[in-house]
Formats: sequence, C-alpha cells, structure tokens
Amino acid sequence: MIGVDFGGTRIKAGVVKDGVVTREVVANTPRTPAAIFAAISKLVKSLKREPESVGVAIPGEVDEHGHCYQLPNVKGFEGIAIARELSKRLGCPVSVENDATAAALAERRFGHGLHVRSFLLVTLGTGIGGGLCIDGAVRRGRRGFGGEIGHVLVEAGKDAWPCGCGLKGCMEAYTGTAGLIRKFRSLGGKANEILDIAKNARHGEKAGVKTFQHYGHYLGSGLATIQNVLDLDALVFTGGIAASFDLLEPSLRAGMKARAFAPPLADIPFLRSELGEQAGVVGAALLPQIMINE
Ligand SMILES: [Zn+2]
Repeated sequence: MIGVDFGGTRIKAGVVKDGVVTREVVANTPRTPAAIFAAISKLVKSLKREPESVGVAIPGEVDEHGHCYQLPNVKGFEGIAIARELSKRLGCPVSVENDATAAALAERRFGHGLHVRSFLLVTLGTGIGGGLCIDGAVRRGRRGFGGEIGHVLVEAGKDAWPCGCGLKGCMEAYTGTAGLIRKFRSLGGKANEILDIAKNARHGEKAGVKTFQHYGHYLGSGLATIQNVLDLDALVFTGGIAASFDLLEPSLRAGMKARAFAPPLADIPFLRSELGEQAGVVGAALLPQIMINE
C-alpha cells in the first residue's frame, strides 16, 4: 500500500505494511498545483512504477466527490479535483482525505486508538489540523469538512493576527509555524526554523521561552473550546512542533484550565502520537480500503 502525506512544507510518500512505513521518499512542496501533482507522481512512481491504488492526505478539506475546498497554506487548489488529477497521472484509483483525519485513522488502527475510545488527533505544523475519533470511529462530518480546529477563534480584538484562511484571530494564526516565528521575531529573536527557537528556549533565553509560553497559551485556549464541546478521553499530538512538546506543555495546560468550562475537562491526558511523523503516510495508505463514516 502506498500513502502520500502532502504537507505545506514537504511531501512524503511511503510504502506501508501493517501500519509501518517500510520505505519513504520526501520532496519539498512546490508552490503551484501543477508542480505539486508532478512531485507527488514522481515520488509515488519512484516507489512503485505501476501502483494499484494510492491514498493521499492533504492539508485542507476535500468533499465526498474529491473536490478540494481550500488549502489555507497552499494556494490555488480551490475547486480542484485532486483525486481525479492524480489518478490521471498515476493510472490508478486515488483516495484523498484531510491529513489530520488520515492521521487519526492511523492512530485509531495502530496507535493510542487501540485503547482510547474518543480522542482528537492534533497536528502541530505549518497549520493546525484536527482528526476526530468518537467512540472508536473516526468521523469526518457530513461533507468531510469536520475537525477544522485550527480556525477556532482565540483572539477577537482588532489587532488579532491574520490567518491563512482569510480570517483573523484563528488558533492557527498563533500556533502554526508562521505564528511561532512571528512571536519569536517580535521578541527580538532571529530564526527561520522551529528547531532554532526550541534551542533558544532550552538555553533558557527569554525570547524562546516566552514564544513557547505564548504558543501554549493560545493552543490551550483553542483546545479548551473543543474539549468543552466534546469531553474527550485524550488529546493526541503530532507534527513538527510536537517534537518540542515539553516546551509548550505547561502553558498549554494552563491555557486549557483558564478556558475549561469545568476544571476536570482541562485534566485531559496529553499523548504523543504512537505513529509520530509517520501518522499521515500510514493513514493515507489506509484510505483506498476504508470508507470513513460507514
Ligand atoms: Zn483561519
């Protein structure tokens, strides 16, 4: 089975067997849809010249007909039928799903979902994604647009930060990679990479420490809103920024406590994805065989 995790920064394609990626190839994400389709096709064909089927996780929403609604961090995909375009290039059926929903599917089958019934898988990366599993079943909503947690409002003032979706004050504006870097620079820090900011924070330098506190606070505010509605068993984190989870965890917990309707709601366990960075590729590889919501 071949799974593709098309992210805002990188595209990963892997051969997956029993929930494990046995071979993986990676490329940087080009800027236009045509170049992205070409890059995905090249990666997949380098793994298998004639694939039988391919699953693709995308950083946005796709409806039941395979039409993309919006990729907040990759422009030009509005209304494009991603599955059909890729199917033409690869010569096989292609299934497409939101990346966080695909990752939740992998977590349900092979990770914490084996013993946690209701969880939200939260991807902390270029954008903030949510994949929802309720009572053992991954849910995508009526149109497949469910789980867009990154666009929960966390700041309503006129100076609220703009988000890639076109609105202002979204959780993702503060907790996507760009928001993290923006905060660090506003405090006089100089870095282009999350790892540089994490290193600064680990050295106890003020800019890095405050940046992660700011990040955790807004992530906590947004996730408390979700938890107030769903009362889940656990939050499961993955994505590039989750590698620095220890730096943001105290302010995340405090942020949740500040916004939780009832204190026990904020005591929800924070788990790290059992599949880690491979959740997207593993979940994508499951897509051709699975009908979510069935
Ligand atoms: Zn937004």
